[in-house]
Amino acid sequence: SSGSDESDVVVIGGGPGGYVAAIKAAQLGLKTTCIEKRGTLGGTCLNVGCIPSKALLHSSHMYHEAKHSFSNHGVKFASVEVDLPAMMGQKDKAVSNLTRGIEGLFKKNKVTYVKGYGKFISPSEVSVDTIDGGNTIVKGKNIIVATGSDVKSLPGITIDEERIVSSTGALALKEIPKKLIVIGAGYIGLEMGSVWGRLGSEITVVEFASEIVPSMDGEIRKQFQRSLEKQGMKFKLNTKVVGVDTSSGGVKLTLEPAAGGEQTTLDADVVLVSAGRTPFTSGLGLDKIGVETDKGGRILVNERFATNVSGVFAIGDVIPGPMLAHKAEEDGVACVEFIAGKVGHVDYDKVPGVVYTHPEVASVGKTEEQVKALGVEYRVGKFPFLANSRAKAIDDAEGLVKVLADKETDKILGVHIMAPNAGELIHEAAIALAYDASSEDIARVCHAHPTMSEALKEAAMATYDKPIHM
Ligand code: FAD
Repeated sequence: SSGSDESDVVVIGGGPGGYVAAIKAAQLGLKTTCIEKRGTLGGTCLNVGCIPSKALLHSSHMYHEAKHSFSNHGVKFASVEVDLPAMMGQKDKAVSNLTRGIEGLFKKNKVTYVKGYGKFISPSEVSVDTIDGGNTIVKGKNIIVATGSDVKSLPGITIDEERIVSSTGALALKEIPKKLIVIGAGYIGLEMGSVWGRLGSEITVVEFASEIVPSMDGEIRKQFQRSLEKQGMKFKLNTKVVGVDTSSGGVKLTLEPAAGGEQTTLDADVVLVSAGRTPFTSGLGLDKIGVETDKGGRILVNERFATNVSGVFAIGDVIPGPMLAHKAEEDGVACVEFIAGKVGHVDYDKVPGVVYTHPEVASVGKTEEQVKALGVEYRVGKFPFLANSRAKAIDDAEGLVKVLADKETDKILGVHIMAPNAGELIHEAAIALAYDASSEDIARVCHAHPTMSEALKEAAMATYDKPIHM
């Protein structure tokens, strides 16, 4: 075919990395094509990740509140029950509205959308087996790999998405399991465990490591685990799964201490395997064009997101770094800015992380453990939500704000928040960090009263002075 059907930018994968890169490229005036095999845009995040999990977290929280907290506020029901198909329906509606919304954005920005499985035949050509059974060759001056990640299974465990499920199956269970075992105490396991726990399942989390969510600040982690335990979640840390038996109706897991020792068994109706995710490059033909990956299969890129093969770039979950949707989006924008001859930038030290349980846990910057390891002299300012008037007013006061600041300069090094809306509160800290603010900068900004945000102001104050309300 002629050169005129060659795109400036071809993106393989329509997840948060890929679709954002495609829209940004088109906005910068580049002729852009996006290839997606799933049939819908939005990738893992929108279809089977961030969005459906947040829909179920919200719905299950409403049920739990109605059942256990409304009466404290003087709101009474004769009875409350779960209509699981309706709950799933609301989640599905949210997902389909949003995926169609991205298709609309593609049209608006004139991004060509090719539905099918792409594989490299050269560094500038992708062969696409289209969803309707055809094949087409897509040519691009620049090709961005944004193929994301997939569920990681564990040796000896076969995911059938019914009794042994991945996060995808856990987002679509047809009944509320009496007993659910979660293998892996990362944020996905804890979020899905929270959903089903609120709906009535007995939750046991089995984790090989000695701690839940390893990236979390240690002090916050302890309070967080205690909070989850209070909600009925049981933890078996330092424990490995050595056997799975599905021959009876349910699932029987054989467990062993991580360091070896006596085996025990644990029964469940459903087991969720959430032991991490793995970069997805299967069938892509990376080896054919010689793109370098690391041992874990992640594509290696430089600071401009370029691989070792000229004209081929990679972003999002398929490259090293935190596997988060907003990080993939930042990668996508910066990568395209470089392609367009501009300067892109992502500060990986300032990517916020949020666990969307109740309370939520959010953080940005360094944990106390990381600050210590750097040998920096620091101060800690803390403020509990029990002393925050808004949190007390709404009777949802579990959690705290913790601010870490450089002892000499007062520059903020990290902020950690456990609170019902920590995922929203964290961005004030993210902006402060991005501007190299001191904790006094935050403390001297007038914060509206009564708000949960005042707890951040007081924690910031507590790094160099006394907070007012403690
Ligand atoms: P993906 O979203 O995985 O998208 C890649 C796309 O490429 C897929 O749609 C795939 O079908 C397509 N593709 C792959 N290969 C090909 C090919 N050869 N041809 C054509 N198309 C191809 N992150 C957050 O930030 N916040 C959250 O709350 C959050 N919650 C999550 C909850 C769950 C249950 C899960 C599983 C993940 C969650 N994540 C969350 C992580 C988030 O989903 C990922 O970090 C994000 O989706 C990565 O974006 P991406 O564009 O790199 O890849």
